[in-house]
Amino acid sequence: MDFSYSEKTEQLCAQLRNFMEDHVVPRIGQWSEEIHGGTFPVSFMEDLKNLAKAEGLWNLFLPHLRDGEPGTQLTNLEYAPLAEIMGRIPWSSEVFNCSAPDTGNMEVLHMFGSEAQKEQWLTPLLNGEIRSAFAMTEPDVASSDATNIQTAITRDGDDYIINGRKWFITNAHHPNCRIFIVMGKTDFAADTHRQQSMVLVPMDTPGLELVRNITTINHHSPEGHSEVLFRDVRVPVSNLIANEGDGFMIAQARLGPGRIHHCMRAIGMSEVCLELMVARSQERKTFGKYLYQHGSIAEWIARSRIEIEQARLLVLKAASLIDQVGARRARKEISMIKVVAPTLLTTIADRAMQVFGAMGVSPDTPLADFYTGGRVLRFADGPDEVHLQTIARLELKESQDNLLNIAKYLTPLER
Ligand SMILES: Cc1cc2nc3c(=O)[nH]c(=O)nc-3n(C[C@H](O)[C@H](O)[C@H](O)COP(=O)(O)OP(=O)(O)OC[C@H]3O[C@@H](n4cnc5c(N)ncnc54)[C@H](O)[C@@H]3O)c2cc1C
Repeated sequence: MDFSYSEKTEQLCAQLRNFMEDHVVPRIGQWSEEIHGGTFPVSFMEDLKNLAKAEGLWNLFLPHLRDGEPGTQLTNLEYAPLAEIMGRIPWSSEVFNCSAPDTGNMEVLHMFGSEAQKEQWLTPLLNGEIRSAFAMTEPDVASSDATNIQTAITRDGDDYIINGRKWFITNAHHPNCRIFIVMGKTDFAADTHRQQSMVLVPMDTPGLELVRNITTINHHSPEGHSEVLFRDVRVPVSNLIANEGDGFMIAQARLGPGRIHHCMRAIGMSEVCLELMVARSQERKTFGKYLYQHGSIAEWIARSRIEIEQARLLVLKAASLIDQVGARRARKEISMIKVVAPTLLTTIADRAMQVFGAMGVSPDTPLADFYTGGRVLRFADGPDEVHLQTIARLELKESQDNLLNIAKYLTPLER
């Protein structure tokens, strides 16, 4: 497999790096001040979005954009290094209209939306005029098994009525969030994987209530990981995405590329952790030596480099497979990198914190935020254990095709 970056990717990476250096890095302090002062969205976000759009650094993630839709039509493989660069400063994804969960929601509308749904919701999302949320997880059932969800989507004439409670819904508290994609059940008696459907619910629909913005490891995200109540929420049947019963299938399709976007950004954050670890270890001395001259710290630096390179290769392989054979046939690699990347980030952030001493857990470095981000990513888009189960299931299935099938030649005693 050839993972070398195309000329187009190299050129966009250089352009994106320059943009980050000129316009994003100088705003890091202001972003933090405004967010902690309660200003959200930050005052300069729209200006930066307009600049990025004018430079063509816009919707970098959607390979199958149609003619006339704004964006770069990069493949997943081409997008990977760009997502990694954006991941270095996590809020920067919004500048380029590449933030989750909008990216996944745009993919859903792109793949499954009707022309009217595209015009009403996809176009403003592609233009960065509105934000969106994806509501699947529920407090009352174990939602890592999506067949458990209980939100009811009940047909009533030309409408659906939605009743249910969701939580950890990213973006729901974003002031520009205008639309939810809600997963619920239209037929509780159908086959297990045909009970679910997805409907579009505009934010201002009566009965939709934002209950609270839930902190994660005591970290407050201004855009929200929110608890949301749907009480007799009525939407027209034309808000159904695709067909009744397609919800589970759409959820699977949505999570393919979206999952690896998170992993690409996690690799970018891991690079920052390593960069900071190296810089700090060359500045500070203990017991007559620079920190990097202590064997344990040199080992952390070396191991971090090895682990980042391993993860990057795996993310590129997963991206390349999605491009070549589709997300479904790439699901083993997607699950593998989804397990690897969050733990990579927490491991390297943890080492970097240790190298920084107490400052490492203070707000004076991004390490604590990165650590939290990595930890919560072990749940978002499915917990590690579910991905491990997928990998193991596929491994067992594929074991019949093993090249030499050595197991066949083992004697019962040896077994
Ligand atoms: C920061 C953040 C953002 C999120 N954003 C969204 C969002 O925008 N929209 C949305 O709908 N949801 C979102 N989620 C929710 C996330 O998708 C769920 O938390 C996740 O799917 C797990 O569901 P659950 O919390 O109900 O855990 P449960 O299903 O109750 O699972 C609990 C634990 O059981 C174990 N487990 C489960 N299955 C297995 C298995 N097969 N083998 C072994 N152990 C197993 C795992 O350890 C798992 O962590 C977000 C979560 C976080 C933390």
